Amino acid sequence: MKERLQTLKDEALNQVKTVTDQQALQDIRVHYLGKKGQITEVLKGMGKLSKEERPVIGQLANEVRDVITEAIEAKKSKLEEEAIEKQLQEETVDVTLPGKPTQVGGSHLLMNVIRDIEDLFTSMGYQVAEGPEVETDYYNFEALNLPKGHPARDMQDSFYITEELLMRTHTSPVQARTMNKHEGKGPVKIICPGKVYRRDTDDATHSHQFTQIEGLYVDEDVRMSDLKGTLNALAKHLFGEEREIRLRPSFFPFTEPSVEMDISCKVCSGKGCSVCKKTGWIEILGAGLVHPNVLEMAGFDPEKYSGFAFGMGPERIAMLKYGIEDIRHFYTNDVRFLKQFHRV
Ligand SMILES: [Zn+2]
Repeated sequence: MKERLQTLKDEALNQVKTVTDQQALQDIRVHYLGKKGQITEVLKGMGKLSKEERPVIGQLANEVRDVITEAIEAKKSKLEEEAIEKQLQEETVDVTLPGKPTQVGGSHLLMNVIRDIEDLFTSMGYQVAEGPEVETDYYNFEALNLPKGHPARDMQDSFYITEELLMRTHTSPVQARTMNKHEGKGPVKIICPGKVYRRDTDDATHSHQFTQIEGLYVDEDVRMSDLKGTLNALAKHLFGEEREIRLRPSFFPFTEPSVEMDISCKVCSGKGCSVCKKTGWIEILGAGLVHPNVLEMAGFDPEKYSGFAFGMGPERIAMLKYGIEDIRHFYTNDVRFLKQFHRV
């Protein structure tokens, strides 16, 4: 029996040494140490032994069981460590694999148009001026020759915060604020881009929020011819050297005289088509000489100073330039639309 136990021990330890996975190790445990295992089988024969032999064999059987158990536990830990090590090696990042492409954003088409116009005017000595979008009634209307109750206010119905505060309806209050800061001393030469708000129902050509860019030049002896020359340069910069401009009389409360500027249609070159509604001309912007009342309210002497102002909608410029048919495209932020203009 002693020999049998010794053989079992050697057999078991040999198997444990060569085993390579947890399942096989578990099988060895069952085979030798289980309820129906080899050691138990040997112990079943104890009844045949003498009283003297029994405790000796019992002790040996326990020793053999302990040695095998220990060997199995040690092997179990070793196999677990190896499994973790293997997993770590398999999951190592392969830095030679190609990367996933990253989505790169771009500036919005309206920003591109605004920056393009800013670049032109800063090259002519203008400065970019900004102001608050929540504006006082005074700067949005009164300082621009639109006193309370003036009928032209109806064209610019807005969102009121209080009786005296509203979302600005145009960027013109920036002009009034900047003139005030100059305390009656010219020249003032600014371009004011920004968001404006009107209570319009959204459709293909109207939006309750849109952008404007306005320009103002106040100095001694500024004339209509200066305005015309400036607008001509702007039209050619935006739409090409071959574009002609024409000025038509118009009305704005803050300019006198006031004009609308048209450019010759680039689709039909002035012959008349559906884009220009058969007229050969396309309306681009409003302008005029600064009204003496506006100069005076801003602290400038209208006898000494004169100036011109103009304002346009970057949305309209972009729509004409790139054939965009619906103003809402600018604000719904469909990436498929925006992507087309990333490199404008
Ligand atoms: Zn045309």
